[in-house]
Amino acid sequence: MRKALVCGAGGFIGGHLVKKLKREGYWVRGVDIKEHEFAPSAADEFLLLDLREEQNCRAALTLGEGPFDEVYQLAADMGGMGFIRSAECEIMRNSALINIHMTHQAAQAGVGRYFFSSSVCVYRDMQPGEPEMSEEEAVPANPDNEYGWEKLYAERMAMAYARNRGMTVRIARFQNCYGPEGTWTGGREKAPAAICRKVAEAQDGAAIEVWGDGNAVRSYTFVDDMVDGIYMLMQSHLEGAVNIGCPQYVTVDELVDTVAEVAGKRIEKNYVEGPVGVHSRNFSNARIYSIGWRAKYFLQDGIAKTYPWIEEQVRLHKADKIHPAD
Ligand code: NAD
Repeated sequence: MRKALVCGAGGFIGGHLVKKLKREGYWVRGVDIKEHEFAPSAADEFLLLDLREEQNCRAALTLGEGPFDEVYQLAADMGGMGFIRSAECEIMRNSALINIHMTHQAAQAGVGRYFFSSSVCVYRDMQPGEPEMSEEEAVPANPDNEYGWEKLYAERMAMAYARNRGMTVRIARFQNCYGPEGTWTGGREKAPAAICRKVAEAQDGAAIEVWGDGNAVRSYTFVDDMVDGIYMLMQSHLEGAVNIGCPQYVTVDELVDTVAEVAGKRIEKNYVEGPVGVHSRNFSNARIYSIGWRAKYFLQDGIAKTYPWIEEQVRLHKADKIHPAD
């Protein structure tokens, strides 16, 4: 039986990835600094460890017999644009420490394959209508935020270990990912979850606050598609960074309209100042398409699966406030 380690298994994508690996027949160890907030982990074993500490990375990688066949490194001090703008030092320090120690220890342990979760935040800002950017166009680099710079460093570190220590490395640059069982409130939530929450809290016909002017362009990838992409990339021969994203690009206004439609509510938009991030995104998926991956969910289908889950969280949260547990 193949054995996999998922770092960040208490988080959104890591939690879904553990389920995917279980379906594929793996024995899975999950590791995170916290338990999963929304669902019990599907991992065979779950360790609570702070991966900023090198000895904890070593402990996570230690098995009774032989090294892990596959290590998926998704642990990061991470959040939506509000968090990215307000926690620059935490991101630069915490995520870099995790990646420095985990990459080195994975190579020391002799793991079969090492996956690193990077982001399209490594690319520069784009204007609407610009042609697609391919992976190598991330350099010369000018990421819009420190989160992107840390990811670029961690990518290069993983590639250096691939070249010099013989570790097989796979690197994905994720577009925005959304779905059930992800952070939906508290300041770390990303745009799709935040908009779903605001719409769930709003009365029919009410206005919700939207950061910026609603014209920023994004691609949103449903989490089931993302974990399929991660798994296919890990099994593939593709070296270097690989974009993974839904080919449908929408404005923030279109995201709000899609959520409102799924919710069956009329929603007005009240544009306010906020940390919007880049103006536009448009990336080539040619590399991930070359191994047969395609997004199965367009925005409407993914939101139809995500909104009911967030609406339920909002309802439970409200009930909890009215009737708090003793
Ligand atoms: P998430 O915040 O839900 O998961 C990250 C997990 O890492 C969390 O559970 C957190 O507790 C854990 N973690 C943080 N510090 C840790 C530490 N010191 N030790 C151990 N665990 C620690 O985020 P996610 O959306 O699941 O993202 C997973 C990965 O994908 C991250 O590396 C993220 O940067 C990347 N990514 C995500 C998106 C997205 O849209 N969600 C987009 C691009 C890239």
